[in-house]
Amino acid sequence: MNFADLGLSEELLKAVHEAGYDEPTPIQAQAIPSVLMMRDLIGIAQTGTGKTASFVLPMIDILAEGRSRARMPRSLILEPTRELAAQVAENFEKYGKYHKLSMALLIGGVSMGDQVKALEKGVDVLIATPGRLMDLFGRGNILLTGCNLLVIDEADRMLDMGFIPDIEEICTKLPANRQTLLFSATMPPPIKKLSDRFLSNPKHIEVSRPATANTSITQWLVPVDARKKRDKLCSLLESEKVKTAIIFCNRKTAVRDLAKSLQRTGYAAGEIHGDMDQGSRIAELDRFKNGDINILVASDVAARGLDVKGVSHVFNFDAPWHPDDYIHRIGRTGRAGATGTAFTFATKDDAEAIAGIEKLTGIKIQRVGNAELPETDEQPVRAKKSAGKAKTSEAKPGAAKGKTSQAETGERQPEPVAAQKTRPADKPQSPSRSDSARDEGPDDGWNGPMPDFLSFGIDA
Ligand code: ADP
Ligand code: MG
Repeated sequence: MNFADLGLSEELLKAVHEAGYDEPTPIQAQAIPSVLMMRDLIGIAQTGTGKTASFVLPMIDILAEGRSRARMPRSLILEPTRELAAQVAENFEKYGKYHKLSMALLIGGVSMGDQVKALEKGVDVLIATPGRLMDLFGRGNILLTGCNLLVIDEADRMLDMGFIPDIEEICTKLPANRQTLLFSATMPPPIKKLSDRFLSNPKHIEVSRPATANTSITQWLVPVDARKKRDKLCSLLESEKVKTAIIFCNRKTAVRDLAKSLQRTGYAAGEIHGDMDQGSRIAELDRFKNGDINILVASDVAARGLDVKGVSHVFNFDAPWHPDDYIHRIGRTGRAGATGTAFTFATKDDAEAIAGIEKLTGIKIQRVGNAELPETDEQPVRAKKSAGKAKTSEAKPGAAKGKTSQAETGERQPEPVAAQKTRPADKPQSPSRSDSARDEGPDDGWNGPMPDFLSFGIDA
């Protein structure tokens, strides 16, 4: 499949070629022709699969016809975060360089003055976060009645951030016969409801099972004592020869502390979290993109959709509370055909969070050193339960106790999740948890229900 087969204009093909893309990704190949035919669309694809261009490209050609009118944007793209909105704007600039489209960005944290001026003149594309848009709408600065194309991007993230009511309200202010495109990595019931209500006869495109982590990412679980996380991180940064990494923590304070600690240890580390103002966040991201720093410690604010090329490693310094966040976090590596590695640190308290992740992805994450959780100094409660079921001494819970794990000595031989079909017969085997489960250790009893704390908001 070629970009030229999708019905895009010559100018656009030229811009795409200059952006360095040879072939459309599967979601692009399927979405672009339908969008050009003005159909509503639901596009479900994991992060890093090129969803942005699958709407930006056809939009540019659609908008090339017609003219903008004062205070009435012709199209609207909703993004959950300022960073994502800024990224989509960059995409418009890159692909739209041979078109004369006007654009405004309405995001929190930057002054509204210029944006309002742009809007007053009239724009072809308005890219906004729902909160900021509602603000401006409330002040009567904007009319959405001329807005014939709506994109709801990263819908599952919108849901997590509590934006669905805003989006519903925004939808009612647009013309009813508009074209609506919705993109998401997963399709939880509230998103389904939203699309049933606001999309009309949408074409449904799903390029892989929802909530499946990208298979070009090698995933590891690192059982670790909470007090030893930093040492473990530093030893992995060395033994894995990490070039660029995003390290996720669950709390802002943890992000700050870890970034400082890494800097003191001599790493070129930076930080990004929700407490920073927009300017500092963008500056820090730029430093990471430019290579001034090669380690970015982040909260979940940076987890979804952020597009930084060539991130070789993702570390979950804290196991994410919400299983969806796991997929989005590790999706920062292994983007667009590249391979990547994700390490998730897990203390004994994370057992249920990990179980939630494994339930969602249907894959048991390979344990570094084949050790089971937890690796603690106390007598592990869960370990006891599964000790009798472990079939090899190597995989016994507590096997890592008292001895240096393989990761610390750099002896570990990474074995990609995708390659585990051929694992040696002497490794623990047990019935599959799902058809995509490839590696099953001893039944450790983590298959229980989702813990209550998963419903708490993420501190970002
Ligand atoms: P998503 O929104 O699905 O998470 P993005 O749209 O952010 O993904 O794209 C992920 C990465 O893939 C970006 O770096 C983008 O530049 C790159 N990309 C997009 N389309 C292509 C393509 N056709 N060929 C190669 N790389 C692409
Ligand atoms: Mg995206």
